Amino acid sequence: MVKTSIIWFRLDLRVADNLALAAASQSGHAVVPVFIWSPVEESPWAPGAASRWWLHHSLAALDTELRNLGLRLIIRRGATLATLRALVKETGATAVYWNRRCEPAVIARDAQVNQALGADGVQVENFNSALLFEPSDIKTGSGGPYRVFTPFWRACLKQRMCSSAPVPVHLTSPKSWPTSLKLNGLGLLPKRDWARDFDWQPGSAGAMKELQRFIRDGLAGYKAGRDLPARVGTSRLSPHLHFGEISPRQVWLAAPREDYRRQLVWREFAQHLLYHFPHTAENPLRPEFKKFPWRRDAQELTAWQRGATGFPLVDAGLNELWTTGWMHNRVRMVVASFLVKDLLIPWQVGARWFWDTLVDADLANNTLGWQWVAGCGADAAPFFRIFNPATQAAKFDPAGEYVRRWAAKPIAPIIDHGWARNRALAALKRIKK
Ligand code: FAD
Repeated sequence: MVKTSIIWFRLDLRVADNLALAAASQSGHAVVPVFIWSPVEESPWAPGAASRWWLHHSLAALDTELRNLGLRLIIRRGATLATLRALVKETGATAVYWNRRCEPAVIARDAQVNQALGADGVQVENFNSALLFEPSDIKTGSGGPYRVFTPFWRACLKQRMCSSAPVPVHLTSPKSWPTSLKLNGLGLLPKRDWARDFDWQPGSAGAMKELQRFIRDGLAGYKAGRDLPARVGTSRLSPHLHFGEISPRQVWLAAPREDYRRQLVWREFAQHLLYHFPHTAENPLRPEFKKFPWRRDAQELTAWQRGATGFPLVDAGLNELWTTGWMHNRVRMVVASFLVKDLLIPWQVGARWFWDTLVDADLANNTLGWQWVAGCGADAAPFFRIFNPATQAAKFDPAGEYVRRWAAKPIAPIIDHGWARNRALAALKRIKK
């Protein structure tokens, strides 16, 4: 009788270069692909609203890909361990495979699942299919984790890249399929359709299209183009990479330019940091920032969230985010700096807003980005370097094209930037005492 293996899909929603799927296929067993919706287990970072929208469409795309290989995606909801145990029982599976993730709550949950299934006598195997390098393999001379990007980058270049996996050509389906929930039953789509203007194609086919577009039109001019938000000068692969619809290896191999590959390694650096400093999703890496005199101002926060600060580049960025679920990296830095340094609102509050509204919301990248801007993270911009939104607009959107596209009618600024800058520098002095 043919044995059965379960592949548990998480943030690896692809069939190409998927080590767990390849291992399941090589086992010669019948393969049961499963997705389990269990957001409480990722608490306090359960997927936000824009991520849930993406996830819905990405799961639909994965099911189509699997059906082309003679399989299908079984969808369940509830506690993961109990669900996997039930599926093992229903299918007679002898093995469970998955690809690793680096978020602290997920690592803790996975360790528990690993141990319990192992104790049940199920063979459990997991793989690194989300990163180019294993976070625990990249060590400083003294054996610790890196906190500065450039030496991290150099260390990565000396490291052997994790192996890739072919698209499985032969997958055996089980004699009978276990029951599955309907995708709509997960309730991932918003009740009020705020995502109607999202112009994305979640899933591996969409990722490949975006990659090919970038290789054709963006890669050669990336160095200059990546800082101009009015242009499509970057790859826009971040949500596809986050959901694992394309692997970083596929992107790395297709884009042989150092300036672009460095960005992929920033992603590795972010995961390396979250893996080694799991407290940083909520707390600053540099502990002196715990004493920073942050303000809580609900009115100013709402003005920022709604893109109504009166600073055209800031407002344009927040409107782009609300309308498309994405924001250009240069503008992310400017809007984040405005919240943290002009308004003195804690970076964690901004990170939460991004978490709910970005389709690429990613705990490692978002934490790194916010702590970088706030000056309290690894290799961060110093706090005293405060972006002037008008100067940034003049430099990176000189013709005002991006602002015209996204900003609403001009309104009076909610704060004087020069005054706010002095206030921020005075606040910094208080933690340096
Ligand atoms: P490209 O320029 O084409 O880069 C290719 C890939 O490299 C990206 O898709 C991404 O995976 C990675 N990358 C690029 N820049 C960075 C970076 N600075 N840090 C880490 N990885 C990077 N990125 C997210 O994916 N999710 C987030 O939640 C997120 N939050 C951010 C919050 C703030 C405050 C800031 C300043 C940045 C944040 N970033 C985040 C990083 C960056 O803005 C996006 O990855 C990038 O804009 C995505 O566009 P792209 O795919 O066209 O990037």
